[in-house]
Amino acid sequence: GITDMPVTESEALATLHRVFGYEVFRGEQQAIIEHVVAGGDALVLMPTGGGKSLCYQIPALVRPGTGVVISPLIALMQDQVDALRALGVRAGFINSTQDFDERRMVEAEFLAGELDLLYLAPERLRVEATLDLLSRGKISLFAIDEAHCVSQWGHDFRPDYLALSLLGERWPDVPRIALTATATHATHQEITGRLDLPTARHFVASFDRPNIQYRIVPKADPKKQLLAFLREEHAGDAGIVYCLSRNSVERTAEFLTANGIEAVPYHAGLDAATRAAHQSRFLREDGLVVVATIAFGMGIDKPDVRFVAHLDLPKSIEGYYQETGRAGRDGLPSTAWMAYGLNDVIQQRKLIQSGEGDEAFRRRAANHLDAMLALCETARCRRGQLLAYFGQQPGAQGCGNCDTCLVPPETWDGTVAAQKVLSTVVRLQRERGQKFGAVQIIDILLGKRTAKVIQFDHDQLSVFGIGQDLTEGDWRGTIRQLLAQGLLAVEGEYGTLVLTEASGSVLRQEREVPLRKEPKKPAGSRSRTAG
Ligand code: ADP
Ligand code: ZN
Repeated sequence: GITDMPVTESEALATLHRVFGYEVFRGEQQAIIEHVVAGGDALVLMPTGGGKSLCYQIPALVRPGTGVVISPLIALMQDQVDALRALGVRAGFINSTQDFDERRMVEAEFLAGELDLLYLAPERLRVEATLDLLSRGKISLFAIDEAHCVSQWGHDFRPDYLALSLLGERWPDVPRIALTATATHATHQEITGRLDLPTARHFVASFDRPNIQYRIVPKADPKKQLLAFLREEHAGDAGIVYCLSRNSVERTAEFLTANGIEAVPYHAGLDAATRAAHQSRFLREDGLVVVATIAFGMGIDKPDVRFVAHLDLPKSIEGYYQETGRAGRDGLPSTAWMAYGLNDVIQQRKLIQSGEGDEAFRRRAANHLDAMLALCETARCRRGQLLAYFGQQPGAQGCGNCDTCLVPPETWDGTVAAQKVLSTVVRLQRERGQKFGAVQIIDILLGKRTAKVIQFDHDQLSVFGIGQDLTEGDWRGTIRQLLAQGLLAVEGEYGTLVLTEASGSVLRQEREVPLRKEPKKPAGSRSRTAG
């Protein structure tokens, strides 16, 4: 009968109804909440929008004491706390944006047992005074939000997160729940190791976002392609456009505005007030487009983002998944659209080479990029590839809601084309002791007598003009795919092309090189498909 049900379950459900006004738990929320209410540690991997917050908010309300939430999203704490207070939850935060009096008041509330939830920035825990404060109150649980920030290899690494392992040492009886939307196996391992959560139960939600349509199109004139995509498929919709540099953010926002699409820029170079104003307009208004660097989006909860567009290649699949995951939190059809081309590959490879970090760091970065490139170049289902990357089993059939499923790309035998490119690189290097970038290699292959070709006597090379069977676009695609497959490499600040160890096997005819065919015309609009 009813009385046999665990008390916690009904209390948790009652809290869901009474405080949050929701009918039922989603996915694994209930199992997670019961586990934490009962005092267990947990590692929760759930995609963005999956409903992670309730997994610690409800246990904090059900268990005696204050739930302490560690979050790096200082800019959002005020909003989070306001939203909770509006629901009648007693919440407060301590971070660097507060003045002394405000902080004293929150501290007093905590010590008096008058807080259900206390949000803390991670750097606070480096201060002994904070630890001392926490020891003098009663803590119901520790929630470590955005737990992947502890991963040194991730793009959100926060050194302060490394200190969080002390929570378990100082408060061995307080349950800890770590939450993240990043879920490669390596990240799991790092979180459990660095946060010292060896016995935490793992809750891994499906990473599939069936309502998001994944599309990656060859980059020709990216701003124009974006405009066509927005006009044809997302007129009047809210969305995010990601660019790599502040400069391209500004130019793209101006371009869209000039073409009748309301767009605002967002990047770390803008002053805080402008950033805050643009962010709140995006949250409040219908149909505003934010053009942003990756500085924008973490923790943003806007359910009706209809598209996320990338004009530049993300550095990793984790980044791509997190950014595209901001689309369609309401479950309605949405598009993840990206324009990707040869220069993206060259630029990212150069960035890794010239970037900071030791050899191991660079190798990790290169591996991340390789996985991202493989996703761009795949002729198979993109969703399947994404899920496989996160260690999840994709369906045997394609998803039916990504570009490669909707219009399967043709492949061709690019072995001879690859040999032509590689021989040109070899000739230049062996016969002339020269290295050149993709543009010059293509001009040589096409037999173009440009000023630079004449200047270097490249029309005298035996390979001059051997590539007239293909178009310039085909050659760009070939070189891009050779770079993506590691059969060619980029060197130095000018992005010159050089051979890799694997190149030899192609030149010696020991392997074939299947390539994706470049569409004659960049894939334009396609009807929206519900998941
Ligand atoms: P995450 O932190 O995983 O990105 P949130 O915790 O912000 O996700 O939740 C995403 C949205 O889903 C929020 O608007 C939240 O209120 C809503 N939500 C979460 N759980 C439920 C539920 N059980 N029923 C209805 N809505 C929910
Ligand atoms: Zn698919």
